[in-house]
Amino acid sequence: GGRDGLGAYISKPETFPPSVVVYYNDDFVTIHDMFPKSSLHLLLLPRDPTKTRLHPFEAFEDPEFLAKVKAEVQKLRHLAASELRRLYGKDSAQEQARQAALTAESPPDDLPPGREWEQEIMCGVHAVPSMSHLHVHVISVDRYSERLKHRKHYNSFATPFFVPIGDFPLKPEDVRRHPTREGYLKRDFVCWRCGRGFGNRFAELKTHLEEEFIEWKKA
Ligand code: 5GP
Ligand code: ZN
Repeated sequence: GGRDGLGAYISKPETFPPSVVVYYNDDFVTIHDMFPKSSLHLLLLPRDPTKTRLHPFEAFEDPEFLAKVKAEVQKLRHLAASELRRLYGKDSAQEQARQAALTAESPPDDLPPGREWEQEIMCGVHAVPSMSHLHVHVISVDRYSERLKHRKHYNSFATPFFVPIGDFPLKPEDVRRHPTREGYLKRDFVCWRCGRGFGNRFAELKTHLEEEFIEWKKA
């Protein structure tokens, strides 16, 4: 438990059910976040014992390791996207049109393409992780979850406190190296989808996030 709670998944992934450990191999373990901050929230845990205790900014300074993590994140982004497609996509008008296009003999080329769910997934790390084992969040953009209960929960995924894996390696002068000085977690709330400001009104934000979730699912 506590800050070391992710260690057990890394050392003994085979002891967890598929509802917890999504998959594992020699180099990585992918799990469901126990306190998801979006409708889909996975964690990628690299198993390399020389990296797992490092801060992500330091771990990702090794270009070979970073490339390996990025490749695995890419796989996981596709897996997460297919899960969103399964959850929200299959009955949408767009998906139906796409299905029709796949089977029609000479489909018109102006049919809408299927929704690109890969773009609805964020992959990255927190500038100040709370858990000590190296982990990459793979999380849908909705921030719609009963477990999103505190100001910092929202802002840690909705400000530069969240550093996308694609932004690594970080430049030495990157301001995100100073997350406390920048005050990311204390910022006023801004809706991730429409950009509306909510000041420090968390309850209002939560109500709005539900409305946005409903629209986002069917968009
Ligand atoms: P951090 O803020 O360190 O980047 O995120 C750590 C994540 O680990 C959080 O999203 C938190 O919900 C998740 N977490 C904390 N403890 C456990 C645990 O014991 N099991 C699982 N599966 N996730 C956990
Ligand atoms: Zn909004």
